[in-house]
Amino acid sequence: MSQTLSTDIKITKSSTSKINQVNFDNLTFGTVFTDHMYVCDYKNGSWQTPEIKPYGPLTLDPSARVFHYGQAVFEGMKAYKDDNGKVFLFRPDENYKRINTSSARLAMPEFPEDYFFNGLETLLKLDKEWIQPGFGNSLYIRPFSIATQASVSASEANEYKFMIILSPAQAYYSGDVSVLIAEKYSRSASGGIGFAKAAGNYAAQFYPTNLAKKDGYQQVIWTDASTHEYVEEAGTMNVFFRINDTLLTAPVSDKILDGVTRKSLIAIAQKEGIAVEERPIKVSEIVEAANNGSLREIFGAGTAAVISPVKAFKHKDKHFEIDRPEETYADFFKNKLMNIQYNKAEDPFGWRYEVVI
Ligand SMILES: *Cc1c(COP(=O)(O)O)cnc(C)c1O
Repeated sequence: MSQTLSTDIKITKSSTSKINQVNFDNLTFGTVFTDHMYVCDYKNGSWQTPEIKPYGPLTLDPSARVFHYGQAVFEGMKAYKDDNGKVFLFRPDENYKRINTSSARLAMPEFPEDYFFNGLETLLKLDKEWIQPGFGNSLYIRPFSIATQASVSASEANEYKFMIILSPAQAYYSGDVSVLIAEKYSRSASGGIGFAKAAGNYAAQFYPTNLAKKDGYQQVIWTDASTHEYVEEAGTMNVFFRINDTLLTAPVSDKILDGVTRKSLIAIAQKEGIAVEERPIKVSEIVEAANNGSLREIFGAGTAAVISPVKAFKHKDKHFEIDRPEETYADFFKNKLMNIQYNKAEDPFGWRYEVVI
């Protein structure tokens, strides 16, 4: 192991690389990690000198508060390589801002902007070979923050770890999904933490999603917790509906996560002259549109899968198949977005962020 000190990150390089053991043509999402990780500790009221070191297990006290009170937030972003080997991030400022919004809601300390970008870019440079070229290939980036203070007393911690880990990902197509519209369970409520990328939001979804799976539906379309009359999100993605040629999505709120993919699709739609409405959407409207043939598409939108088309849904024991057109908005938006992300098209919005490797 070689020990070097960069301007403000302590770097310990891995003596060997695992990269030759990885089959990049057969990756299971989120299971393989690169050679290095970024760690920055918070204590005595401030973030300490960050470190980049070989990827590996952590040692935490069993009473660390993250295990007991769930102070944990994260982000999901990707690095893309174009045909000339240039590396890009997509709107990383949005992820940076969002992890701090999430942290603030969970009474966790915000992370400084220069630490975030310097840490992320230094890590990407060290593990640059892991960013594979090819449309659809990417390096998934997982920044996260957890409460590490040892104590089971029920209040916010005064010690944290902010980390970044990297996982190579392939374009994944898990098949078009069938979804169940929630009538009983909820993922978020007014005044809650639904807008935050908090670990606990995911934990709360697994059980109702398992019930949906038993019933033959892979995901749940979440509805508002008080009436279950309005659609909110699909699984862990924002959700879009196409009725005739109009694109609909619920407005962001304290219950709905402000997705980067979601807001990018809305901007693309507006630029392309596709009618798009951000407004509360009633389940009854979707059912009626399915019945009268005007519901043409439903799809989820998020960084990991980009766009996930829905082929059928169930509501109150009734199953509906969606009769999708030849040319879908799902394909159109996925291509538009990925062409920008992979530097294959103009970037009129200024979304690409080049990482000088
Ligand atoms: C991460 C996430 C999304 C998608 O956000 P992107 O920024 O587009 O990746 C949507 N909904 C929930 C609940 C999420 O956690």
